[in-house]
Amino acid sequence: MKTGDSGEFGLISRIAAQVHSHQGVITGIGDDAAVTVLTPDMQLLTSTDMLMEDIHFRRRWHDPYRLGRKSLAVSISDLAAMGAIPRWALLSLAIPADLPPNFITECTHGFLAMAEEYSVTLIGGDTCASRSGLVISVTIMGEQRPELILRRSGARPGDDIWVSGTLGDAALGLKLLDFGFDSAQPRDSAGHTGRSLSGAEGAVSRLLDPTPRVTAGLALAASGLVTSMIDISDGILADFGHIAELSGVGGCLHLDDLPVSDCFRSIASAFNDFPHDLPLSGGEDYELCFTASPGDREKIIGLMKKCGNQATAVGIVSRQPEVTVVRADGSSYTPLSKGFNHLI
Ligand code: ADP
Ligand code: MG
Repeated sequence: MKTGDSGEFGLISRIAAQVHSHQGVITGIGDDAAVTVLTPDMQLLTSTDMLMEDIHFRRRWHDPYRLGRKSLAVSISDLAAMGAIPRWALLSLAIPADLPPNFITECTHGFLAMAEEYSVTLIGGDTCASRSGLVISVTIMGEQRPELILRRSGARPGDDIWVSGTLGDAALGLKLLDFGFDSAQPRDSAGHTGRSLSGAEGAVSRLLDPTPRVTAGLALAASGLVTSMIDISDGILADFGHIAELSGVGGCLHLDDLPVSDCFRSIASAFNDFPHDLPLSGGEDYELCFTASPGDREKIIGLMKKCGNQATAVGIVSRQPEVTVVRADGSSYTPLSKGFNHLI
């Protein structure tokens, strides 16, 4: 296969030349398999994700650099959700013939910048041609001491349901792009884009360049306070639903307590028919949802503050297996949608 003027091997050696190796890599890119060593007393955690063009991303919205960053960020987020330390990654690319020559270069720059930020070493991958769209497949490996690994399965009735950061921004970003907001549009001297909408850039960047919550995930794991955890990729309603299912419990989410950003609030208030429950069902925020005993509220809030993040209690785990949503006045709420279905 070809990308621009250089073939598969040119591409691989250009990627390899940019890799900064971190701890634990004996043999990286170039051999038939990579060789790595775990830190003593740690267990290996592995996760893989595919990003398919026109299902998970659109080339006209996602610039290649941020697409590369995001392709690794979403995998790192899976390790953050287990309270693990990200260590190594594999990057597989299926490249369509019509891709502009610089696209993969930019995309791998973005991927490697994200890798550097989280001390992840790219140790291999695969490269082939695609007859349809671009496919980016990332496998991430990390490690953690067995007693600190957090799973979806430990929530107990009576636990608080917590969320890090703010919710709904990424889904709002997707709506803005869908309405024609151009994230690449040049700004004027006042910093406004042509379709000026205060805060729009921030929401779009939450979608295109998400931040995995590794520091918070590690601190929560080390605290021993957390009973279950997941990252929010499909909306808290769907993702807390996974905790509930695997823990054999249910829960009640308080819609009006879901934390939103200032940018979300200002855009939401500018439109009458704004889909106000995006924080509940909108995807791709990559915040952490976790459960802990109500006796540990102050400790959780303090711990998350120390990580430069915030934690908001947004509901209670119940013995009954269903997940319900209530308003501040106690009335029950029927969600507009059950969860995020990527671009569909
Ligand atoms: P094989 O035919 O044995 O699978 P490849 O030619 O696919 O070998 O890969 C050669 C080396 O380059 C391997 O170490 C592989 O992990 C690495 N590699 C291939 N594609 C990529 C990629 N997109 N990113 C990083 N490393 C890659
Ligand atoms: Mg191969």
